[in-house]
Amino acid sequence: LWITFEGGDGSGKTTQAALLEQWLSEQGRTVVRTREPGGTDVGVLIRDIVLHHRGDIAPRAEALLYAADRAHHVATLVRPALERGDVVIQDRYLDSSVAYQGAGRVLDAGEVRDLSLWATGGALPDVTVLLDLDPAAARARLDAADKPFDRLEAEKAEFHERVRAAFLELAASEPERFLVLDASLPVEEIAAAVRDRVAGALR
Ligand code: C5P
Ligand code: MG
Repeated sequence: LWITFEGGDGSGKTTQAALLEQWLSEQGRTVVRTREPGGTDVGVLIRDIVLHHRGDIAPRAEALLYAADRAHHVATLVRPALERGDVVIQDRYLDSSVAYQGAGRVLDAGEVRDLSLWATGGALPDVTVLLDLDPAAARARLDAADKPFDRLEAEKAEFHERVRAAFLELAASEPERFLVLDASLPVEEIAAAVRDRVAGALR
């Protein structure tokens, strides 16, 4: 089973991925928790490039770097784990590219998606949890938590609004894969909704 978490910066993906991992491990499942960009050694190098050159890298180059990270990640880590029967919990995947490189950098959403599908041989998760949050609330949350300022502040508010809208559009277009949750709800309430959905998928 392959579960991805999507949503803007500060929406709680990492927190929820960790809680889900803990719960599945308690159920005796073997879990691989990973992330993009940067889920492999090669990916860490690519993450360094895309995050340190954010805003000054040509949009198509950025899209290709994310796709390269993804191709290597799926081929060397995700697919082997799924083939072993492990549960893979992943912080961001191709929907992030459609939202950030597509809607954010204003590339064609269909082309960005096709690029990712080519990169991964068409691999799509079983369940995608979208943590939906107003970017202003996300910013307040990151500020309060004293998180590194290069996360949201690197882009204009309007960029994050486009990203949010793109995520919601993706979820609406694939209602079977997506579980959309209000990320302003209490952490435990969100975690319970995620567990419900994953338990259903494991049956
Ligand atoms: O989720 P994480 O904090 O690791 O993401 C690092 C940064 O990379 C975030 O600020 C996110 O906005 C950005 N990102 C992106 N395009 C992606 C994935 C992440 O711009 N496809
Ligand atoms: Mg995170």
